[in-house]
Formats: sequence, C-alpha cells, structure tokens
Amino acid sequence: MATGKSKRGPRFARLLLAGNSADPLVVLRSATWNYNSVGLFAGNEALVVDPGLSPAELALLHARLVTAEQPPEPRRINHLILTHAHHDHIRGGCSFEGARTWMPRIAAEKGPEARGRILAAGEALGKRIAAEPAGYSWPQVTDPFDTEAQFVLGDSLEVRMHFLPGHSNCTSVVVIPALATLLSADYLVSPGVPFCRHEARMFEGALVGLRELVERYEIERLVPSHGPMHLGRDKIHEAIASDQSVMAAMRQAVRGALDKGLDKQQVMAAALAAADKDRGQTAGRLAAQDTDNARRILREEQDIA
Ligand SMILES: [Zn+2]
Repeated sequence: MATGKSKRGPRFARLLLAGNSADPLVVLRSATWNYNSVGLFAGNEALVVDPGLSPAELALLHARLVTAEQPPEPRRINHLILTHAHHDHIRGGCSFEGARTWMPRIAAEKGPEARGRILAAGEALGKRIAAEPAGYSWPQVTDPFDTEAQFVLGDSLEVRMHFLPGHSNCTSVVVIPALATLLSADYLVSPGVPFCRHEARMFEGALVGLRELVERYEIERLVPSHGPMHLGRDKIHEAIASDQSVMAAMRQAVRGALDKGLDKQQVMAAALAAADKDRGQTAGRLAAQDTDNARRILREEQDIA
C-alpha cells in the first residue's frame, strides 16, 4: 500500500479545546508525542500548565489565552504550573516571564546533577523537533509547594494543586473544581500500560489517591499530559481501574514466579504474560514501558523475599 503518505498523516498542533466563557479550558495538542498543553482564563488573568513543546506551539497557546472571547484588554498570563520535573513538562517554563510559577518543592529543588540530566534530555528533544524555546533553562519557581497549594484566577476561578508522587517522585496534579476538571500530568496517558517512571508501589498509591480526588471533587473531565481526555466519571474510573488491575496482575505473577524459584527471565516473562492476559492485549508500541513496569515490581518483590 504505497499511498506516499505516512499512516498518521502530517502532524500539526491543534486546539482540542479552544476555551470559551462557559468553559474557559484551553487544551493544545502538540505535533509531538500527543502532548497536551493546558491553559485556563478567567477575567483578565490566565494560567498555563506544563506548556510546550515548540516555540510555535507556545506562541499559539499564549495568543489564545490572551485574546479568547475578546477581553476588554489582553489578558495577563499571571500563573504557570509545572506538574513535575520531566523535561517535556518544564519545557515552556521559561516562556512566561513574570508569571508566578508553582511546582512541587521536590521538583523545584532538584540538584545540579538531576537538572543537568533533565535539561540535556530536553535539548535532545529540541534537536529532534528542530525547535527549542528561547532561553530554555531550569525554571525559576516562585511558589514551591509540599502537599497542596491553591490560588484564585481572575477573582473567581479556584485552582488547586495536589502533590501525588508515583509517576515520578515529584509529580502533582491540578484540579479546577468549578469545571469538574482534573489535569492528571502523566497519569492515565495510556490506561492499561501504567506510565510509571519511579517506584511501582508509590505509583499504585498514586492511583488510589487519584481515585479519591476524582470522587472528592466530582470530576467529570480528566486531561492527561499525553493522549486523549477521559470524559465522564465512569470512564475516568475505568481508566484508573485498568492501570490498577494490570499492576496487581503483574505483582501477583511476580510473587508466584518467585515462590516457585523461577529465574529472573522466567519471572519477567510471567509478569508480561499476566499483563497481556489482564488487558486482553499486548502493550504494542508501549512494550518497553511494560517491561520497565515488570522490572520495577520485581525489584520490590525481591527486596521483600
Ligand atoms: Zn513525566
């Protein structure tokens, strides 16, 4: 089948949600990694959350937030939230000078070695997409927080941040209660293939915490930093449950295989087979993440054994 086009077609950034006065949430889908930059406006103020990834995309997000619904004066982007310190999420952090910058303290206070590693990964991405934001560097965080933080946007719209480590040791999520909306950072980016880049046990705890936040705030719309939004409370709980179920199936398989005295390779195979069975399909293009999850669980179960 030689159509001359790649199967996915050309890739451009586009607004998944343009935002209006009734629903002032702006979601910009990047041309890269199905990444979602988020913005919010109220009155004469705007907020950006994990803005990225290219200068053109940052400019598009900025323009939309400043002028959406034709405010009497261009809005000021007064707040920037960085959910965690992974390089794609901090990428636009330098493009909103003058904004109060909120970030979990443990993320904001990463040491020189970690900062160097994260920024280098960001530079590699910049080369790959041939675009780097001007002044790309470690963000200047004015408002680090430990467990929770909140502010009011435009005198009316409450924005809350909750520290929820597990995807990384420094991840948080954002809630906009009046919009029944939760911005989940890298949770639920690929339900059924948990996106754990830290400790499996902590990730499992984060899924429980996420479920609690969804109930507490009666969330109906969950926007992850990559991939499709999850709409409706039932769909959100389904997505959480599928990650929980795969993690539990893998952990059980690892325990069983260790009890039988199987070698590492066999334990890993058992874990991956259990995940496939639980999901009803392989991890496909996310196979590397699947293997990574199995390895993280094995490490924890070996420590117990
Ligand atoms: Zn991440």
